[in-house]
Amino acid sequence: MPLKEKTEKAGTEFDAKRAFEHVKNLASFGSRLAGTEGDTKSIKYMSEQFAKAGLKVEYDVFNAPSFIEKEAKVLLSYPSKKEIKVRAMLYSVQTSREGVKGELVYANLCRKEDFAKINAKGKIVMFSRTRDKDAFWEEVTNAAKNGAKGVIMVDYNPWIFTATMESGYFNIQKRFLSVEPNPIPAVTMTSNDGQFLLEQSTKGKVEATLIVDVKNEEKETKNVRATIEGEKKADEKILVIAHRDTANTPGANDNASGLATLIELARILPNYHLDRSVELMAVGAEEELGSLGSYNYCKMHKNELEKIRAVINVDMVAVGSKLKVITEGLWPDKGKLETSKEINKLLVEEADKLGYFAEYGICSFATSDEGRFIDAGVPASWLWKPDDPYYHSMEDTPDKVNPNDIKAVCEIVKNTVIKLAKA
Ligand SMILES: [Zn+2]
Repeated sequence: MPLKEKTEKAGTEFDAKRAFEHVKNLASFGSRLAGTEGDTKSIKYMSEQFAKAGLKVEYDVFNAPSFIEKEAKVLLSYPSKKEIKVRAMLYSVQTSREGVKGELVYANLCRKEDFAKINAKGKIVMFSRTRDKDAFWEEVTNAAKNGAKGVIMVDYNPWIFTATMESGYFNIQKRFLSVEPNPIPAVTMTSNDGQFLLEQSTKGKVEATLIVDVKNEEKETKNVRATIEGEKKADEKILVIAHRDTANTPGANDNASGLATLIELARILPNYHLDRSVELMAVGAEEELGSLGSYNYCKMHKNELEKIRAVINVDMVAVGSKLKVITEGLWPDKGKLETSKEINKLLVEEADKLGYFAEYGICSFATSDEGRFIDAGVPASWLWKPDDPYYHSMEDTPDKVNPNDIKAVCEIVKNTVIKLAKA
């Protein structure tokens, strides 16, 4: 592959140590949920890193539903007293300062049929999280319809999963559905705390207060974009994208691992002769409304979409076992969205040539950012390690991240991009 004369600034070797520093820096900003302080810091950070690589930085500015969690707790009041740390479900309503008090009742998975034999009226409903599910509008609605005052979801992990009150649908207009007959507060709890409360309730009545102090508001966020101009067909583009926001978590693997990949590519790719342009994008608000940032990109750049030859999405690549090239994602309301066979094949081939392992896989509950591009008719693919146990939890911290995984992905993506950029 053609290489320009080596410049001191750019270099040609990826650096796992350097990539890991970026992961640590980004994860130190706290939650990067769209519109939070951490999100703003990450916009500045990515802009600075792209500029440092000598690239011009541009933005897509849009609004996203933001969510600030000040406090969420369960105060057990009967038969004993205990304070239990919980997390609010994203977009939960807040309670009064006194909270909502009620008897606890267990509703299994909180499906409609789970209420046949229990009385939830005026009570706080506890339920177990369905595996690999992350949106719980339906469950909360089932509880509300049966008269519950609030809900507590118990995770299957000994750490707290940050669930969302969204519907989990691809259709953006149906992501936020109302909770009938009235919205009720919703929180999530660890498996251990959940077990403790359920054991108590087998012995008799258990009473607790749910306190949720949160703020739901519309906030501004951005897609941060940097372009490496092509030398022959500059108007045609290859996009490499990674989302910058988090699900109210530190987001070391999800998705500082992808952002570190972008930063390393920004440093290395300008050293190569590229016929087509390469755009690197740190996408905002992926964790909301089924990839809101990419949805907005496709809307704002509607007339340029046909010039995009390929999109490679890097999302969660440094925790877990096998690296997967995702061939399809399944949505409850949309069905299957298929990624590009051509890009997928290239990714696997380039991994193979480099001596890395990558295989095809699917996502059974959604797509990441690439889904919005596929829906808009742009060929796209997604690199993902699906088995991160710390997904969407406060445990998604840099110590779990394998820096060498990021380096491998950088090399695979670089070689694939160079091929795709050839006119
Ligand atoms: Zn992600």
